[in-house]
Amino acid sequence: MPRLGVIGWPVEHSRSPAMFAAAFAALGMPDWSYQRLPIAPELFEQTVRGLPASGFLGANVTIPHKQRALALAGSASAAARAIGAANTLSFGPDGEIAAENTDAPGLLAAIGEPVAGKQALVLGAGGSARAAVWALLGAGAAEVSVWNRTAERAVELALELGARATTVPIAADLLVNCTSVGLRQSPSAAEQLNQLALSVDHVGTYACVVDLVYRDGPTPLLAMALAAGARTVGGLEVLVAQGALGFELWTGTAAPLQAMREGAGLSV
Ligand code: NAP
Repeated sequence: MPRLGVIGWPVEHSRSPAMFAAAFAALGMPDWSYQRLPIAPELFEQTVRGLPASGFLGANVTIPHKQRALALAGSASAAARAIGAANTLSFGPDGEIAAENTDAPGLLAAIGEPVAGKQALVLGAGGSARAAVWALLGAGAAEVSVWNRTAERAVELALELGARATTVPIAADLLVNCTSVGLRQSPSAAEQLNQLALSVDHVGTYACVVDLVYRDGPTPLLAMALAAGARTVGGLEVLVAQGALGFELWTGTAAPLQAMREGAGLSV
């Protein structure tokens, strides 16, 4: 009975269990299971080390544990090391832990068109922004700029990963929101854009707008980008793409993308 799960604190909101259940059902894998694993920060190491003995082959990791997941692992991919965070752990037969980061390739897969030669602006300087900057630069983006509410964090990230920090959201081909703005219904849409130092007119200047945040209905940023005629990529698309990579890593089977999209709550 191979077991998988998603570790977070809190983790109730995660759509990964439904997405993986749909994948197992689509491929006729009734023995496989994927569950929420709410683990408090102070119990993280000891609980994760106990998972292999309980039949777990691996786990996704979400807020706030991604950095500690990397630190705990005995081995890590080049991507996880460069980004400084892991969202996917695999457990070997003797309990050894390997760390991977599928947020970066998942973002590129969800964008679905080459980013080589393009200018990108990443909003945010947390874990997902690090993955986005690393992914975009690795895929050949001509320049990646980083804006963050706390400007020093953007400078630090940019220096470390070879991007450029900016104190204003400059023009670019691609805009990627890696902040948590948009997660909640309030404050108003205009105020949420304001928190990202953007205006309605400004949003329409980006050919493609990606929002990592997902919730029921479009985020204010995506709604405004759509209305302005931009191509948009929502957070659920990114969730499915990173989850599909984890599925393939753990099961050795091509991920049933359509079923995973439906399981995650995407209409097609
Ligand atoms: P994180 O490390 O906690 O970083 C949060 C970022 O949001 C920081 O840059 C922070 O700026 C900024 N921020 C928070 N509140 C803000 C506000 N009111 N105004 C302006 N900026 C604000 O989080 P993360 O792991 O990078 O995740 C960010 C978001 O992406 C979360 O909503 C998460 O759910 C989502 N996400 C989605 C996927 C997916 O598969 N779709 C994957 C990963 C993450 P400061 O530095 O100034 O605090």
